Amino acid sequence: MALNLLNLSILFVLLNIINPFPFAEPRTLEASTTPFSKTLQNLRGVHRGQNAKGVGELRGYLQKYGYLTKGSSSNDNFDENVESALKHYQAFHHLRDTGVVDDDTIKKMSLPRCGMPDIITNPNPNPNGLVGAPENYTFFPGSPKWSKFFLTYRRTSGATVSINETAVRRAMRDAFQSWANVSPFTFNETTDRSADITYGFHRGLHLDLYPFDGPGRVLAHAFAPEDGRIHFDADELWRSNGSDIDFQTVGLHELGHSLGLGHSNDTDAVMQPNYDGQRRSLSQDDIDGIQALYGQN
Ligand SMILES: [Zn+2]
Ligand SMILES: [Zn+2]
Repeated sequence: MALNLLNLSILFVLLNIINPFPFAEPRTLEASTTPFSKTLQNLRGVHRGQNAKGVGELRGYLQKYGYLTKGSSSNDNFDENVESALKHYQAFHHLRDTGVVDDDTIKKMSLPRCGMPDIITNPNPNPNGLVGAPENYTFFPGSPKWSKFFLTYRRTSGATVSINETAVRRAMRDAFQSWANVSPFTFNETTDRSADITYGFHRGLHLDLYPFDGPGRVLAHAFAPEDGRIHFDADELWRSNGSDIDFQTVGLHELGHSLGLGHSNDTDAVMQPNYDGQRRSLSQDDIDGIQALYGQN
């Protein structure tokens, strides 16, 4: 029993070490019928100095995605920290940085998206995504990267999903190939449990600190090198033909995280955080990012 408890605490510590990202709260967002969208609608026009129901939820959203580190998410006071964080969010997403919840901000925050934060609070050797910064790729804190160029990957079994197995494997094979084409990496599929990168579908709570949230909202997340885990939310309406949530689009994005890229504020990049339709080709910004980390192929 003592040993089990010890193992559990070691696991917990390890999870905290390898997941140093502020996206722990399963905060949710989705199209117009959801509570968060309604919250945003109710906050339209609210600004600094006001106290309004729902500001705490907005604060939680901004914390989850790396725009805000201070304050309690139960605090409904729209203070200068919330205003500043909202301006950062708006600047990253190329909206007018008014610091007010306006229509464009509501629309953007209502898109399904990746569960990883946009702005990582630690100093970054390539500190993009800040107000006034040029459009560009980012890395994780400390720029973690793979120490080898020959990587294996494995499909893990998991929850049943709305897309068939052949389509899943083909989409991921194509996604791996897209990154291999512009980098020194070679990827080979394996069934070996020692695979470097693993991917699979999970529902709700699933053995990490970041439970999924049902259809819409957060679609997937992945861990920085050399962790290798990629998790997709099993509750999405995954498709292989570009409709609903295009699996290959999200796979290509999450694989970028597995290789060491953070979110980009280039609206053309595969590594931008929101899902706004099929996007299966890497942009110049994605290519510049992976080559800055590993060199050319
Ligand atoms: Zn992402
Ligand atoms: Zn996960």
